[in-house]
Formats: sequence, structure tokens, C-alpha cells
Amino acid sequence: MTEYDYDFFVIGGGSGGVRAGRLVAGMGKRVGIAEEYRWGGTCVIRGCVPKKLMVYASHFSSEFKAAKGFGWTTGEAAFDWKTLIANKDKEISRLEGLYRKGLENNEADIFDSRAELRGAHEIYLKSLDKTVTAEKILIAVGGTPNRDALVEGSDLCITSDEVFHLEELPESIIIAGGGYIAVEFACIFAGLGSKVKLIYRGEEILRGFDGDLREALHEEMEAKGIEVICGDVFAAISKDDSGKIAAKTRKGKELVADVIMLAIGRNPQTEGLGLEAAGVGTDGKGNILVDAYSRTSVEHIWAVGDVTNRVSLTPVAIHESMCLVETVFRDNPTSPDHELIPTAVFSQPEIGTVGMSEEDAAKDYPALDIYRARFRPMKNTLSGSDERMMMKIVVDNASDRVLGVHILGPDAGEMAQTLGIALKMGATKADFDRTMAVHPTAAEELVTMYAPSYRVIDGVRQED
Ligand code: NDP
Repeated sequence: MTEYDYDFFVIGGGSGGVRAGRLVAGMGKRVGIAEEYRWGGTCVIRGCVPKKLMVYASHFSSEFKAAKGFGWTTGEAAFDWKTLIANKDKEISRLEGLYRKGLENNEADIFDSRAELRGAHEIYLKSLDKTVTAEKILIAVGGTPNRDALVEGSDLCITSDEVFHLEELPESIIIAGGGYIAVEFACIFAGLGSKVKLIYRGEEILRGFDGDLREALHEEMEAKGIEVICGDVFAAISKDDSGKIAAKTRKGKELVADVIMLAIGRNPQTEGLGLEAAGVGTDGKGNILVDAYSRTSVEHIWAVGDVTNRVSLTPVAIHESMCLVETVFRDNPTSPDHELIPTAVFSQPEIGTVGMSEEDAAKDYPALDIYRARFRPMKNTLSGSDERMMMKIVVDNASDRVLGVHILGPDAGEMAQTLGIALKMGATKADFDRTMAVHPTAAEELVTMYAPSYRVIDGVRQED
């Protein structure tokens, strides 16, 4: 018998925590896992999964419009928010059950409780008012939305935690932020019929993504009726007599809507977690510091996922957990690979991307060949929509290596997944060129752009 109650204790039942807990329990270790809210974490309960269901729902308005051009006559379409929310909730509960079952089937001890560290090996379980001990500990508590407490009246706003449970579809909504969540929800609400404004502090939405895509998405969002305000932020927020929420901006704009949503990043959920009691170091903002193997400053405590502020994406947290299990329990030191992570923004149109933007590549490579196409996808020849797609390939002129591929348009996320494999394998532009096109698809454009659209030499576009 060892002196601890558990070989491994996981704090946090999200994507990262559940994967590690399940795998280690499956190896016959004594595993405990605690979750204070719902199993599945942000991604499953109030993030990626319910968001994607809402993205599907919001697509129908443009599909109904497009149908006419293909000969369909549809009756008057009506949307019922409550039906969507109820059906979404049912699916989320089903998925939550699967997460729980996976742990149960592997005989992990499951605690529906907040857990806090009380020492280097001690974990306090609040709902049981009991402390258990573990030889090894994993912290995978994720993050929580930034509520911008510095802005007066920000408590009148909702965040992505509340957006999935609004009583009704707002007639009008203002969304603050220019990242994934802000852009995705602006498009969701516009598709469902709300009047949408997005306000972002920077020059252009989606900082860090390829510049051409950012501009093109901005244009397409405006074309859908979304007002995108850049270079401004809220100064104060209040509720008016009619119950609407009013915001004054720093530049003196007065904006009013039924709902204001803040989508201005997330903070690690480490407050009150007992990190000091255990000796776990943070970066000063509460993010847990880890080494290349996800080990914290304490020898037997690890951390994965958003709480480490490496790359805050679900598949990354899962990958970090799998590497941790290899390293710690299979004696096979494996460091998570954070290079060339394909990603999608479920805006409308969608973004799918892998690798370096033109701007980032231009800082590291003296000569780039850029292949860029913007075109109306075939469906829109009959749909009546003017929406255009963009595809862009960033190539290192010296080695012919493809450094990044960026797509704006239908199914861009699906394309990014397979492109990710090619780029991971070190694909060159010549590899793209010798790949046969799949016809007729939009993706065939990726293998039929034979001449560069322009070059970038020492960071400067050489356009004719
Ligand atoms: P992001 O980090 O993507 O974006 C945050 C946005 O808020 C940025 O535009 C940022 O501006 C702005 N911002 C930050 N602080 C302030 C402030 N005090 N006042 C005004 N604006 C501010 O975060 P999100 O909240 O959109 O998403 C959270 C995480 O969830 C992301 O890390 C993302 O990885 C993940 N996610 C992934 C999705 C996907 O894979 N499709 C979908 C949704 C979320 P600036 O650019 O100037 O810093």
C-alpha cells in the first residue's frame, strides 16, 4: 500500500482533465477526478460544441435565400430560439453523460465538487468537506471569461458563459472583442436575424491571422449587415428605462442594444485554487507556468490546457494530456508539439488556416511567393449571393516550402484539417502542384495556382 489515497488526482473535468484521468485510470492506477460544474468543460458545455450547433442553426437563413436560385419555393421561414436551445441542451447533456461514463468505465473516482489544493499532495473536496491525498496531481481547470471589471457597468453584459442560455433571441446585440468568440457570435446572431454590432479595440478584427483574410472577413461581415467598429472600446455601460443596455465608447459613440456581450479573452481559473499552498508557480496573471513536459514548479504536479496559456484550443489540451500520460506513466518522455496547429474560426464565411500568415512569415523569411485567389464559389453562381472565397498560400522562395495556407469560405475548417497534415510533413509548393485537383470543388484552387500573385521581398510586397 502506498501512503496516498490516489496515484493520480485530476482537478478539472474538461477536455484535458478527462482525457488524462480516463487514460491513467485505464492503466489500472487509482485515479480521482473532480469537477465543480459540468463534465466536459468549456468546450462541451459552453464553448465549441454548443457554438457549432448554433452556427449550423444560423446558416439556414442564407440557405433559404439561396434555395430560390436552384428552383425551390420555400414557405415563410420562422425561427424559434427556444427550440434551438432546448435541442442543444439535450445534446450537451448526452455528451456530458458520455464524458462521465468514460471515466466510470475505467473506474476513476468521480467527484462532483470544487477541489482546491491544501498542500503539495492534499486536495480539499468542498462538497464533501474532505481532504484526499494523491501522489501525482494534474491541474486542468481551464479559464473563465474576462468580464472587464474596469469598465463601469460591465456587470450588465453577458459573456460566452451566459449566451447559450438567453431566454430569447435578442433583436439587437453588441459584441465586444475581435477574437474567435466575438466574430463567431456576431455571425451567429446576424444569421439568426438579430441586428448586430461588433466593437473591437484594434485596427482590424482577428489579430494574428493573415491580414488579407482579416480584411476579407470584415468586408463579408459588413455585407451581411453586421456593423464592425474598429479602434474603439466601451467607456461606460448602463441600463436605460426601457431595459435596453446602453454603452458609451471612448470615442464618444452611443450604442444601444437588448444585449451586450463581452468576448474579450479569458482568464485562468486559478483564484482560490491553493496554488501557493502547494508551491505551484504562476506568471503573475494566474496562468500556471510549466516546462516542455507540462510539469509545474512542483515535481509531482502537472498542468495542461487553457490554464497554462500556451495555445488555448481543445485539441491542444487533449494532446498535452496524452503527452503527459506518455511521459509520466509510460516512461516515454513526450513533449507536446505546438507547431503548425490548424485552426478554424466558425465565422460566416468560415476561416480555416494552418501555418504562418504573410505578415509573420515576412519577418522570418527574406523572400516569399504568395499565391492568392479570390473568387465566387460555384454555388453562388445560382444562389444569388455575392460572397466570395479567398485562398492564400505563403511559400518560402528559397526552399519552396509551404509556410502557411489560409482559407476564407465554406468548409475552410474541414480543408485546414487535411492541409495540416501536408504542412506537418513539410510539403513544398511543388508537392501541391503535382497533386491532382478534385473537380469541381473550391479546394482544387489550392493545387491550381501555378504562378505567384506577388512576391514579398524583405517584408515589402512587390506588386505590379
Ligand atoms: P481571443 O483571445 O481570441 O480574443 C480576445 C479579443 O478581445 C481580442 O480581440 C482582444 O483584442 C480583445 N480584448 C482583450 N482584452 C480586452 C479589453 N480589456 N478590452 C477590449 N478588448 C479586449 O479570445 P476569445 O474571448 O475570442 O476566445 C477565447 C479563447 O477561446 C481563444 O483563446 C480561442 O483560442 C478559444 N476559442 C477557439 C475557437 C475555435 O477554435 N474556433 C472558438 C472560440 C474560442 P486584441 O486583439 O487587441 O488583443
